[in-house]
Parts: sequence; structure tokens; C-alpha cells
Amino acid sequence: MNVLFGISASSGIGIGRAFVIPESEKRIISSKKIKAEEKPTQLARFEKSLAKVTGQIVQQLEAVKGDKVQSEIFETYFLMLNDPEFLGDVRKSFEESNYSIEYILNQKTEEYADRLRSSGNAYLAERAEDICDIFGRVINDLLDFHPFDIENVPDDVVIVAKSMNPSDTVILSKRRIAGIALTDGGVSSHVGILARNYGIPAVFDVENILNEIKNDSLLIVDGQAGEILQSPDEKTLADYQKKIEAEKAHAERLKSFRDLPAKTSDGECFQLMANIGTVDEARVALEEGADGIGLFRTEFLFMSEANTAMGSAHSKVAAFTEENQFNAYRRVLETMRGKPVTIRTLDAGGDKIISSLEVSHSASEEKNPLMGLRAIRLTLANPQILRTQLRALYRASVYGNLKIMLPLITSVEQVRDALAIAKKVREELKAENIPFKADVPIGVMVETAAAAMISDCLAKVSDFFSIGTNDLTQYTIGVDRENALVAPLYDEFHLAVLRLLHKTIKSAEAEGLPLSVCGEMASRPESVMVLAGMGVRTLSMSPKLITSIKELLSKISVDELKAISSKRLNSL
Ligand code: PEP
Ligand code: MG
Repeated sequence: MNVLFGISASSGIGIGRAFVIPESEKRIISSKKIKAEEKPTQLARFEKSLAKVTGQIVQQLEAVKGDKVQSEIFETYFLMLNDPEFLGDVRKSFEESNYSIEYILNQKTEEYADRLRSSGNAYLAERAEDICDIFGRVINDLLDFHPFDIENVPDDVVIVAKSMNPSDTVILSKRRIAGIALTDGGVSSHVGILARNYGIPAVFDVENILNEIKNDSLLIVDGQAGEILQSPDEKTLADYQKKIEAEKAHAERLKSFRDLPAKTSDGECFQLMANIGTVDEARVALEEGADGIGLFRTEFLFMSEANTAMGSAHSKVAAFTEENQFNAYRRVLETMRGKPVTIRTLDAGGDKIISSLEVSHSASEEKNPLMGLRAIRLTLANPQILRTQLRALYRASVYGNLKIMLPLITSVEQVRDALAIAKKVREELKAENIPFKADVPIGVMVETAAAAMISDCLAKVSDFFSIGTNDLTQYTIGVDRENALVAPLYDEFHLAVLRLLHKTIKSAEAEGLPLSVCGEMASRPESVMVLAGMGVRTLSMSPKLITSIKELLSKISVDELKAISSKRLNSL
């Protein structure tokens, strides 16, 4: 047996075979010129690859017979592979140039995709991803390149990788995954947050994992201890199976808290809300006894596979259309049956890249994306994105109790600019006779030191505050929350973070503004006690943790909570 140590990213125990994801190789398309006599062979290879991929599509079409939506996808691919205009253009350009066929095919694919993206027509813009996908397959065949596809991960395995993207994690949520073990990652990374939301045990920051762990070896992921046990002996395996049984029994006991209000031992009430990233998680939130949704991270909607709930199953990634969004928000609001639902406007950028989004820059151009054009900065720089999202949100507002939240605010002007767009959207909807609630509260996330320091000013232009402690910690200490190398520096109890929290709570109190905390501090027992002692009464967390926080609060009094936080804050 071999034990590897890391940090606990998502508790629970998982047992399964290792599925090692190799470090991704890059597809290299050479721009080297070719000789004229190579042309016939290259052209013949192209026709062969084209025929091979067409054959695969015909087979896939056959396999999904009867499924209208999926058939449509493959029919589109089939038509693209046989499009005389596109293929004629590729062959002509190849004849006239000295470049390889894969180089020309790649160039033409990008050229056509760009034209579709800038057509101004949402349907055609969605087809840009299709053309890249299908001719990308032809290019891969020409290069004999076999990329790893996260969708091919089988059920019941433990994922072992250097790192993972949030979008891969969203796709994995649709599989049954026993655990995740990564070299990189931080506890407050989005991959960690998603693993906790999906209840997948996870250990991050495990050194040298790709060399140490053999594919298909039996692994135990101990998410609580932050350990990976490879090829355990029989006794260890039996002990862990007993632990799993004990965990199940504990989860069963916690269910008794589900329908009880969140209260301290001396009767002080709390609101425990859920953080979600997909429409389906709203149902989980309700089942776990959430008082509402405190944070809906809308960016994850557009990272998942085609989501039929959003009305578009055509391209692999759901398109960011008003209609798709309206359907998703409406379903979440309806599911929550009048309980408050705080939906955050798009927090794309940074590590959360949405390929279907039409923006005026490419994220890969940014040297330091976490400091770059992300969240409200991105949507104010591309106001059509904010406008579309606000239209969808206002249209959905009549189906429940909606609040709108703006991410990564650093100035009063940003709030004013966003409010001005919201006002325009309301005027448009009114003129179009579309029903909406005009008084939807619009609040801001306090997740930068700048926002916390000017929280007294922000309180005058906001309807509520929600403190994002993940980014607040990251930006205040200047420590990347995803980077395992600096993970020990990521300290939510750093006095600078606590002082900013304190200041924000006081600003909200002075203005009578509702305040909640939706970062990961709101779900860790030690930090929940500090926040509660500082006066926070609304906490938003992964739905799966709600009952355990209810249990924690039920055993402690307000005076005890105050004593815990003042100990932490004594140097204020
Ligand atoms: C935060 O920063 O604390 C937060 C809740 O937002 P996210 O984790 O999505 O950045
Ligand atoms: Mg944040």
C-alpha cells in the first residue's frame, strides 16, 4: 500500500480504480511549406480523412435514430462535411498555396467560424462551434492526433490528474465519480467548490501524482484526511468500508435537521441558503432544507454540455442566448417556490472560460486573467452580454422571488453603470409589453479589498451585500486561490481579511442593508462560528452542507459565538 498526502478539498470517502488523465498534449499544425509533388498525396489523405469522419457521423446518426434533437446535431455535421462551397474553397486554396492540407483546412475552418460568429444571427453564431468541432475531427485524423475527451471517463473511477478545469468538473457531474485526486488546486478553487456541490470526495495538492499513481490501481480517496491510499491491503479496505457505512449513518441522522429552522441553542435564527451552478441543483437545495438560493453562479450553465432545460441541445456547449437563460432562471425560480433566489450576473473570465461567449477579446491574450477582464468588468465592456442576461432575468422575475447580484464590484461607478443598463432593460420590456417585476433588488458582491474599503459608499447604491470570501481572501493577501504552491498562504482568518469583513458588516448595519456571506467561509465550521459571532445571520453554501451547519448552530449559543469571534478579532 502506498499513501500520498494532500489537502482535503471535499470530504467523504471514495473507493474506485484510478483513471489517470495524462497531461494534455497540444495539437501542432505545422506552417512549414510543402513541395508541389507532395500535393496529390496530401489531397488523397484529406479525402480519406473526410470520408472516415463522414462514416463515423453516419454511424452516430444511426445510433441516435428516434432522438430528434441529437439527430439534428449529426445531420448538421453531415451537411457540413458535404458542403460543396466550403470544401471547394479548401481544395482551391490548397492548390493555390504551398501549405499543408491540415494548415489550409484549419485556416478555412477558423475563417468560416469567424464569419458565422460575427453574422449577428444567434443561430448562425452557434454553428461556429459546430464547424470547428467537425473539421477539428478531420484535422485530428490527418495528424493522427487522439485528444483526451473528458466525456469518455467511465463511471465509478477516481480521477487522477495534474489539474482540472471547472468546465470538465461540470461535465463529470453527470457521471458517477468515486473521487478526484489532483496535483494542483486549492480548497477554494472552483473545482473544489464544484466537487463539494456534487458530493465527490477530493484531495488536492498531491505531489507527483502522475508518476506515483498507476492507471487502474485501486484507490481510496479520504477527503477528510486529505489522503490517497493506493492498492490498500484487505484490512485497510475493510476499515474504510466501515467508515463509509458510518458516514452514511451520520448523513441519515443529519436528515432530522432538514425541516428544522437553523437556530442556536438559545434560539437565535439564521438563514441558510444554497450556492448552485446548475438548474438541477435547485431541487437538491430544496431537498436539503435550504431557505433559498444565496448564489447561483450562472457561468457554469454555459460550461456544461448541451442542457435541454435551456432549450438548446444543438451545440456541445449551451449558447448564451436570452431564451436559454430565461428558461434556466425561470425553472430555478419555480423550483424554489417563492423562496429568495439570488442570481449572479456572469462571472466569466479568470479560470472560468466560456467558449460560446462573444466577447471583444480573447482570454488567452491576458497575462494575468484573475486581475483582468472578468466578471462585471467583462460584462460592462461587452454590455450586450449584461443586457441579454438582465432581459432574461427580468422576464423570469415574475416566476418567483428574484434578487440580482453583481460580481467583483470595485467602484460605485460600476454599480451605477450596471443599474443604468438594468433601467434601460426595464424600459424596453415595458415598451414591448413583456411582464416583469420592476422592484427586483440589485445587490453587490463584496469580494475585493476595494469594495470592502468603500462598503459605506457601496451600501448607498446597493440593495444588499453578499461577501465573497474566496476572492476577498485571494485578492487581499494576493494569493492565487487555485495555486497549490501558495496554498499555505491562503488564510481566510488573516487579520486583513477579518478586518475587511468587519468593516463590510458595519457598513451594511449602518445602512440597514441585508448582508450574507456566500464564499466558502460560510460553510466551514470554524469560520461559520467567527462570522456568526461578528453578526452575520445569512450564510450561503453548498446544499449538501446545510444540515451539518444547522447541527453545529444548534449546539452553540450567541454568547459563545461572540467569544469565539472576538478572540479572532482582538487585534482590531
Ligand atoms: C467568492 O469569491 O467568494 C465567491 C462566492 O465567488 P466565486 O467563488 O464564484 O468566485
Ligand atoms: Mg468570487
